[in-house]
Amino acid sequence: MRYISTRGQAPSLSFEEAMLTGLARDGGLYLPETIPQMSAADIRALEGVSYEEAAFRVMRPFIGDAFADEEFRGIIARAYAGFGHAARAPLKQLEPGHFLLELFHGPTLAFKDFAMQLIGQMFEASLTRSGRRVCIVGATSGDTGSAAIEAFRGLEAVDVFILYPHGRVSEVQRRQMTTPVEGNVHALAIDGHFDDAQARVKDMFNDFEFRDAVRLAGVNSINWARVLAQVVYYFTSAVSLGAPERKVSFTVPTGNFGDVFAGFIARQMGLPIDRLVVATNQNDILHRCLGTGEYRPDGVIPSISPSMDIQVSSNFERALYYAYGQDGAAVAQVMDELKAGGFAVSQGALQALREVFESGRADEDATRAAIRATWDASGELLCPHSAVAVHVAGAHRHPGVPMITLATAHPAKFPAAVEEASGIHAPLPERMADLYDRAERVTRVGNDLRAIETLIKERIAN
Ligand SMILES: *Cc1c(COP(=O)(O)O)cnc(C)c1O
Repeated sequence: MRYISTRGQAPSLSFEEAMLTGLARDGGLYLPETIPQMSAADIRALEGVSYEEAAFRVMRPFIGDAFADEEFRGIIARAYAGFGHAARAPLKQLEPGHFLLELFHGPTLAFKDFAMQLIGQMFEASLTRSGRRVCIVGATSGDTGSAAIEAFRGLEAVDVFILYPHGRVSEVQRRQMTTPVEGNVHALAIDGHFDDAQARVKDMFNDFEFRDAVRLAGVNSINWARVLAQVVYYFTSAVSLGAPERKVSFTVPTGNFGDVFAGFIARQMGLPIDRLVVATNQNDILHRCLGTGEYRPDGVIPSISPSMDIQVSSNFERALYYAYGQDGAAVAQVMDELKAGGFAVSQGALQALREVFESGRADEDATRAAIRATWDASGELLCPHSAVAVHVAGAHRHPGVPMITLATAHPAKFPAAVEEASGIHAPLPERMADLYDRAERVTRVGNDLRAIETLIKERIAN
């Protein structure tokens, strides 16, 4: 299995190389050259197997010879052992025909654990085998950084540095980054906004001398291995509602388009998905684009669902690649236009997108109302991201097709917004109830590239 760039100008790579590289050299994102198929019989056979076994069967065709079967089973087992629910991704009924896929039972209470825990184990296995070490640097507005620190803490072959904007992440998010005691993970609080943190990380990747000296690697949401890990729960949830005999639709709280794109891959593999509904908050560039064909970033307005506050949705490029008939040059062209302010999706590509994707938005009031109404009707307490999706799902139900809405974070991760909407305080699950008592370890850094690079080099040397 080879991986090719969405922009068509980078050399093809193996799964392992694509995972360790992240972004392609031509600025594109990696995709499998062909998408493996699951037959109806393969899909039917997933019924009743463990999440780990389903994960093995769904992902195995994508990884080539990166890992032997038994090694890969071990990686998957270790990745999901720390989840707080035996089903890993349990499905709950909200009302007739509408189901909630709970993806927040991982160690940091957000769906990003599904991908990050797996990628942590895959990095460790691959690097240990080749005797290499890498240094992972990432910027976060909260969920990605906590998931990365949790996934990589204590591993031998990896150092992790996460930059987050000082004073601008929730207390739970901050504590999840600052309380792990392992010496290979480092939380850095930068004076500035998320955009500053992200810009300094980009600068580090562009500083080739530094990049080579510390062997920099990235695990942000464009990493193909992260997308792949998320394909699995589309299969497990659809099968539990009767796939492949019955079609299902999904509504997905969307920011960088990684999660919903994993649904697209599941559909391409043969899972009978009717519609993928892209749910956005008031930062609705994707909803507007699917409506009008115009993709023009116009600034972010902070919301109570911060993990979906985006300007540029990086994984959307992967969907565009298929919509443009796998024409890398066409994708490179629109991405160039984006740099100059925005682009218009061609009529043919827009039509192709609309054959699969629908979209909707929820403003702040609608989000709060969905938290309240869902609590009243079903006793399920939603985080604001999941509430955006539940609101949008309501308008996209089709008779006879069950709707599965993805719940991407635990309500206790966003207690203030949840309490304001519902009057209910969401307690942390018992296994992390002492989070507020653990000692924090964090380094405050200025918004200064050289200072940050020096700090990282010193820490790695020790
Ligand atoms: C990251 C995140 C999202 C958005 O997922 P994308 O893959 O970026 O579209 C939604 N909800 C939560 C809680 C998240 O952490």
